[in-house]
Amino acid sequence: MHDLVLVGGSVLTDAGLRTTDVAVTDGRVTAIGRELGESREIVECSGAWVGPGFVDLHTHLRDPGHEWREDIGSGSAAAAAGGYTALVAMPNTDPPIDAGHLALRISDEARRVGKVAVVSAGCLTMGRGGERMAHLDDLWSAGVRLFTDDGDSLQNVAVLRSVMEYVAQLGGVVSQHALDADLSGAGFMHEGSVSSRLGIYGIPRQADDIVIARDIAIMRMTGVRYHVQHLSTAGGVALVAAAKAEGLPITAEVTPHHLMFDHTAVMSTDSNFKMMPPLREESDREALVEGLRSGVIDAVATDHAPQSAVEKDVPFEHALNGVIGLEWAASVVNGVVSLDQDVFFDRMSITPAAIAGFTDHGRAVAVGAEANLVVFDPNVRWTPTSTRSRSRNAPYLGRELTGRVEVTILGGAITYGGEL
Ligand SMILES: [Zn+2]
Repeated sequence: MHDLVLVGGSVLTDAGLRTTDVAVTDGRVTAIGRELGESREIVECSGAWVGPGFVDLHTHLRDPGHEWREDIGSGSAAAAAGGYTALVAMPNTDPPIDAGHLALRISDEARRVGKVAVVSAGCLTMGRGGERMAHLDDLWSAGVRLFTDDGDSLQNVAVLRSVMEYVAQLGGVVSQHALDADLSGAGFMHEGSVSSRLGIYGIPRQADDIVIARDIAIMRMTGVRYHVQHLSTAGGVALVAAAKAEGLPITAEVTPHHLMFDHTAVMSTDSNFKMMPPLREESDREALVEGLRSGVIDAVATDHAPQSAVEKDVPFEHALNGVIGLEWAASVVNGVVSLDQDVFFDRMSITPAAIAGFTDHGRAVAVGAEANLVVFDPNVRWTPTSTRSRSRNAPYLGRELTGRVEVTILGGAITYGGEL
């Protein structure tokens, strides 16, 4: 007797795509094929894609210290509803995650909640201050594999060089919020025709591009694995492509909102279109879509950034940056980029898991593997109206999307959907 059988989906198996059934027992995939026999629970998957649960490289769980926006419980529920089985939590919390015991508390608490596996990223510098290295080896011992001062770019190049050398020795990844602080400091949106019309200070594309170019130069000195967070410009995509062609160990992510929207959305002065880096122009958006398609951009990452109503329902310039996105990322990517199933799972699950070092997630479905799975219907049209997040700063509510997560399975247990 199986615990669970997923029936008749298009399954991304370790032997390629097959329309078949998948049996799960005691937390693992135990059989792939037809007529698998009796099961306690059956999930009908015909017309849907079955594959490895999604993996997010960039979630702000806001815990500890900013729990009025989100906590590990509410963020985990949103992640499960979005098809995620694993995520990397950003370390710009209060206190910032610059030592191992702080990182351990987050993964322990997420394990207790039981809806998504969480590993915290670690800070590059103490307190995200940009001056002294964080306790990098201590963070590494606590399971941290990705290091970033996200929310801020590490500006001091000498410190960056030291950190890159140290993280290279550990075998980790330096992940950069690539946005020059001086060039972006006074701005609230993309610098272009819309910012001119609205009379709002803008941030030029070069704020992103010069940091990426500079970091690639330091990469060459250190050999570190380097990851560009939330690419927003065509120039950034070109820089990543050139570094890859050179053979450097660089990877990059793009967010759902940068794939779907451009700066004209800000004409509404709706603060749900205010984020960092800002929405840029249609030509940038097209370069991001093409980059994700071609694989120059390795992964989709949500930059799920909850902010409360009092922080968002204020005039545009005063609103805090960020939008939430865990629950709709897969739908946005499917609707906007329309990838084939195997490429879709590569960008949503397999490559992000490889970058973050998750070994039990982001693997094609195989007998014996831990059952961390998602059932995604790529054709259903739906309009989200609510969220499991503690915050509602989403540009997707009330907007029709194509494709929907039907069921999420973590360690063999259904964490979202099904007959719960
Ligand atoms: Zn960031």
